[in-house]
Order: sequence, then C-alpha cells, then structure tokens
Amino acid sequence: MTEESQGRRFRAYTDRHLDELLKKAPLSEEQRLRTRAVSSVLPFRTNAYVVDELIDWDNALDDPMFRLVFPQEDMLPKEDVDRLADLLRKEAPKKEILPVANEIRYRLNPHPAGQIQLNIPKNKAAEEDAVDGIQHKYNETVLFFPQQGQTCHAYCTYCFRWAQFVGIADLKIANNDVAEMTGYVARHPEVSSVLMTGGDPMIMGEPVLSRYIDPLLEIDHVESIRIGSKALAYWPQRFVTDPDADATLKLFEKVVKSGRNLAFMAHFSHQREMESEIVQEAVQRILDTGATIRTQAPLIRTINDDAEEWAGMWKTQHKMGMIPYYMFVERDTGPQDYFSVPLWRAWEIYRDALSQVSGLCRTVRGPSMSATPGKVTVDGVTEINGEKVFALRLLQARNPDLVGRPFFAKYSEDAVWVDHLKPAFADKFPWE
Ligand SMILES: *Cc1c(COP(=O)(O)O)cnc(C)c1O
Ligand code: SF4
Repeated sequence: MTEESQGRRFRAYTDRHLDELLKKAPLSEEQRLRTRAVSSVLPFRTNAYVVDELIDWDNALDDPMFRLVFPQEDMLPKEDVDRLADLLRKEAPKKEILPVANEIRYRLNPHPAGQIQLNIPKNKAAEEDAVDGIQHKYNETVLFFPQQGQTCHAYCTYCFRWAQFVGIADLKIANNDVAEMTGYVARHPEVSSVLMTGGDPMIMGEPVLSRYIDPLLEIDHVESIRIGSKALAYWPQRFVTDPDADATLKLFEKVVKSGRNLAFMAHFSHQREMESEIVQEAVQRILDTGATIRTQAPLIRTINDDAEEWAGMWKTQHKMGMIPYYMFVERDTGPQDYFSVPLWRAWEIYRDALSQVSGLCRTVRGPSMSATPGKVTVDGVTEINGEKVFALRLLQARNPDLVGRPFFAKYSEDAVWVDHLKPAFADKFPWE
C-alpha cells in the first residue's frame, strides 16, 4: 500500500473542482466546457483517492474509472449540451442555468420504477402503516434510507439515484427517526432482512450507524442486516485508517455475535477497483468480523460491457473471499441511452462470463432488472416452435407466488428494459 493511501483523510471534490480536475485529462478547453455543461444536469462528486489512485489520466477518455465518475460530453443530446455550454461560456448566473438544467432533468425519467409510491406495499393495512425512510416491496426484506446516508464517497455517472443527488427527487423516503423505522420492523414479523441503503450508508460515521443498527439487534425476527455500499471501491480507508474504522468493525462483529448475518453488499463496477492493497486489507478486515461480503454491479456500456471483465471481477472477488451476487441491468433513468446494453447482449455477456469461472463463482444471478413487478432476470435467448424468444424469470416479486416461474417474451434486438418487451405464448406477463 502506498503511504499516501494509508494515512489519507477524506477529501471530496465537487462541481467547483471539476474544471481543475479535467485539466489532468487530455481534453481541449471546449471539451472541458462541454463536460461542465453535462455536469450542470447530472451530479458530480469524487474524492482524492479515486482521482489519484484509480483513474488512468493519460488515457482518461477511454478509462473506465474516469468514465465511472466523470461526466462525458456525449451523455446528453448535443442540442442540450450546446445550450448549456453557451450559457457557461457567457458566464450566465446560476439562476439562468438552473431552469434549463431542470428542463433537461425532467426529460430523463427521474423517478424510475415507481421508486417513491409503488414500493409501499399494496395491502391496505400495510399502506396505512407506511413509514418515511422505509421501502417494503418484498415480504421478507425492508430497505432503510437513513437520512445521514444519502450521499456517497463519489457518484457513479450511471447512478439511478442521480435525481436525488441533484435535489429534484422529492425524496420523502429518507428518515432520521430511528425509533419510527425500527418500530416498523418490530411490527412486521415477516421481515427477516433489513437492507441499509442510500446513497451509501458507509458515509455515516460509526456512532450514527450504530443508532440505526443497535435497535435492530433487539428484534428477534431480524435474521440479517445488509449494508449496500460502494465504499470498498471509492473509500476503502473507511475500514482501515479512518478514525472510526475499528469502531465500525466492532459494530459489524456485534451484529455477528448477536447470531445474525451481517451481509456487506459491495458494489464493484470494475476490476481496477479491487487492485489497490488497501482494498484487500479492508476486505480482510470486514471478513475478520464474521461478516460476509456479496458483490453486485450494473452492466454498463463503455465501463464493464465485456465478459472477460466480469469473469475477472468474479474470480478476484472469489479469491478475496467475497461472493458474487447480482449483475444488474442499467435502470431506465438518467443517461440510460448512453449506458444501456441490449438485453440479448447483456445475457450473452453474463453467460460468457459465467462459463469462464468455477462453480463457486456461479452464485451470481442476472442480468436482472429491478422493475416495478420485481427483479426480472433474463435466463436466455432461445427458440420455441420456430419463434425466437427471451426466457425470463422473476428472482424477486411483489407477489411471492410469481417467484421462480419461467415466462417468455418476444425477441427484440433493441430492448434494453422490461418495458420494451411483449409477452410471447401469452397475452400478458404473469404480473399483469
Ligand atoms: C433487490 C431488492 C431487495 C433485496 O432483494 P433480495 O432478493 O433479498 O436480495 C429488496 N428490496 C428492493 C426494493 C430490491 O430492489
Ligand atoms: S455508489 Fe451507488 S448510490 Fe452512490 S452514486 Fe454510485 S450507484 Fe449511486
């Protein structure tokens, strides 16, 4: 490990630093301006570790780590970028830029898959019991959105929560009333798993994290606590050298000692994110607490749309003691046109990657779409009675009765999301 990454204190970079940072890349002044134009619409945030240790600046334009956190000028339609670039060129005030930015934002489907309304359970009793900061879409699992965890150590350009980071999603979903949130779990004996999400919950310091977790350890039917986080990729110091690193690991250990599973759901988009020694040390320290680490990421064009990349990730994760869990399909929001991979191709990449790894790495499921009815996975492209079709399956569903039943959709070359599919051999999909 470099001494630098060892003792580093967290330092965030935002919009204000963007132009200076872009000067490290081989970009012309005009390109920098156009990149800033895009970042007036989509969120930008990174930190010194990502900038100094993950990005290959000499090849920035083709570098997956650069593309992962820095906006690209072609992420938005040319006319929009022209308009914003003109405003920036003449140094227009914020109040002139904002309405233009917002108009573009609202064209980017800021609230996909009924994130806000639909995840509240359908049955009447449960609806009346709805609590801010909680999504209870699947019977056994509840999502927690702690108010203090609604940001990240860096933002991914493809993030489906982008609207929240630019402040246009009216996110009633975050909450800091711990008693209200844990009270909901206590009243719902069907909930065996609580998943802390964000943003990134690991942005919270240990004392705050404990305030959310400790009360859950008093609830018998809670069997597992999950933490969905990209901190291992964006800020591994969180588990090694940060002032509360040890206390955080103690907290994980306490969960395990209480007889529960502490599942750390690590978001890794690319092998590069696992290379530095401090990541390996962080993973080891988390595993030493008795926690498990499962990995997940979306499949993203120009960042990881390659079977060798995924096979490499799964093998490395496996060697490091992590368990590959999900390959997601990029959601239908933000610059989806830019990042999306057709479903047939997503399945090919998944299958091709899977065939290269041992059975122990084949714990990963996908390519999976977190859509309104549930998690729809593409099991394959096949031919039945001379008709080319997608074979699909729900890995998770609002209606548990639908889980695991195969169904079919007409083949489509361009479909990138479940909404683009038409049922085959039936007049509707199982959830319709
Ligand atoms: C994926 C997901 C979960 C967790 O599902 P598991 O199959 O238990 O991993 C819970 N809630 C929502 C809304 C999800 O998208
Ligand atoms: S770490 Fe997760 S929540 Fe944060 S920007 Fe990336 S995808 Fe979004």
